[in-house]
Formats: sequence, structure tokens, C-alpha cells
Amino acid sequence: MTEATQRWTVGEARITSVVEAQTDGIPPVFFFPDADEAIVQRHAWLMPHFADPEGRIGLRVQAFVVEVDGRLIVVDPCVGNGKVREQPFWSEQSWPFMERFEAAGYDRADVEMVVHTHLHVDHVGWDTHLLDGRWVPTFARARHIYVGAELDAQAADEGIDARRIRDDSIAPVFEAGLADIVEPDADLGSGLRLAPTPGHTAGHASLWLTSGDHHALLTGDIIHHPVQCAEPGMSFVSDADGALAGATRQKALAAAVDADALVLGTHFPSLPGGRVVADGGAWRFVPQPGSP
Ligand SMILES: [Zn+2]
Ligand SMILES: [Zn+2]
Repeated sequence: MTEATQRWTVGEARITSVVEAQTDGIPPVFFFPDADEAIVQRHAWLMPHFADPEGRIGLRVQAFVVEVDGRLIVVDPCVGNGKVREQPFWSEQSWPFMERFEAAGYDRADVEMVVHTHLHVDHVGWDTHLLDGRWVPTFARARHIYVGAELDAQAADEGIDARRIRDDSIAPVFEAGLADIVEPDADLGSGLRLAPTPGHTAGHASLWLTSGDHHALLTGDIIHHPVQCAEPGMSFVSDADGALAGATRQKALAAAVDADALVLGTHFPSLPGGRVVADGGAWRFVPQPGSP
């Protein structure tokens, strides 16, 4: 289950998860400072796909590939290989991500657009790869979409990883003339539109897809794990503004229910696609396994 390709149909569009890495058995406090195993165990529906009986959680880094109107679009291309990062488990990696991307039937030269919900290290990595000692664009014919406010906040971030991704993952795309700066509610065509969802970062935007009567919400980092459906106030360790992120998350989950949208959780493990349903004053995530 961990690394298998899963696909969902949304009207005339198709969305595929391409996995970089999944980690299971994580103590929740590692990523959610206010959480513990007992809080996770309160929500039995999280087992077995999203948590283990001891209340430890799984998290995944994956990109979603959208096929619509003959266009090939990559959303949030993960951590990448060979990049020096603060997190040891993200640093100088050699994951078979591009091999999985190709095994799913895709050619990097056919990618028309790369969408970033925000500019954290685990959402921009495969924008570049190392070639003859230089970081060069991976999707060399794609327009790369950046929300202006997010780019500004990223540029002001003096954190060590923020500086590194400017150099190795963002600058090469701009130097190649492949970058487009947009508003956080930009219409990206073919039923794709960004929706401003600030809090996790200042310029965070989620991606909605509409095809006919069918809707999908690609969350980005407004939610990291299905437990936050049941505990929507639970902040992630790297939320820039936890209170705003919580309010944004609740609005987005309510909108997903209203639209009966397929929700694709960018960091959800094992079964990342499903429906959000109201449950006891909060929500519950009902996974919908994708087809292979
Ligand atoms: Zn993030
Ligand atoms: Zn993330």
C-alpha cells in the first residue's frame, strides 16, 4: 500500500498520487505539539490506514499529477534527491520518485504546468535535479506557478532551508524563464483554480478542480493528517500562524463537504483520497481507495 500508484477520476479529469516516501509509526507529538497517542486513539476510524493501534501516525510525501483537457500538471513536487536539508531524513536522498512518475506513464517533457500550494522544502524539490554539478529544471517545458505573496514571504525567510531552496529549487526555474507569478485565487484553466488558504504559510493556496458536476480539493498543507478532521484546531509544528491555519482548515473542510469534493490530502498516508463527512461537531475522513 505504501508506494503503490493510486488514481482517481473526477469528471473528465484523472488525478494520480506519485509517492516519494511514507513514514509510519510516528509519535504524534513529533509533528503536532498539542497531540499525543491518546488523542489519536479516540478516533477509531483512523485505524488501520492512518494510525496504528498504539496511536502513532503515518505521514507521506507525495505529488499529485492531474490530467485534464490533454494537459499534464504536477502539484507539489516533494523533497527531491541530493538536496542538503536540515531534516536528516530529507537530506541528500535518493528516492525512486522519477522512476515511479515514469512507471505511472508520464514523461517529464510532457508536463505543462507545475503548481505549488506553498514553498516549503517538501513541495518544490523535484522542480530541479542535479545535472553536471548544476541544479536544472526537471520539468523543462512547464510553466511553474508561484503565488506572489508566498514568494515574498519565502524571500524574507532567512531560515537555512529557506535559503537553500531559493538557491537550488527556485532560482534555477526563474533563470530558465519558466516561472509565472499569480494571485492566490488564480484561474489556471481547465477547471483548475487556486483558493487562498493562509495560515500554514502566508501565501498558501489550495487547488480546486471542477469537471462537470465533480469537484476535487488538493489540500496542500492546510491539513497534514486525517486526525485534524476530528481535531480541526490541532496545529502542525511548522504552521506560521496556527490560529489562522485552524480557521482556514475548518472553512476548507466545510467547503469540501458542501461540494461533495474528493479531498486529496497532500501528506495523508496510505489512502490519501476520500470524502470528508460531518461527525459530532467536527469531521471524519472516509477514504476512497484509488484504482491502480
Ligand atoms: Zn508546508
Ligand atoms: Zn508539506
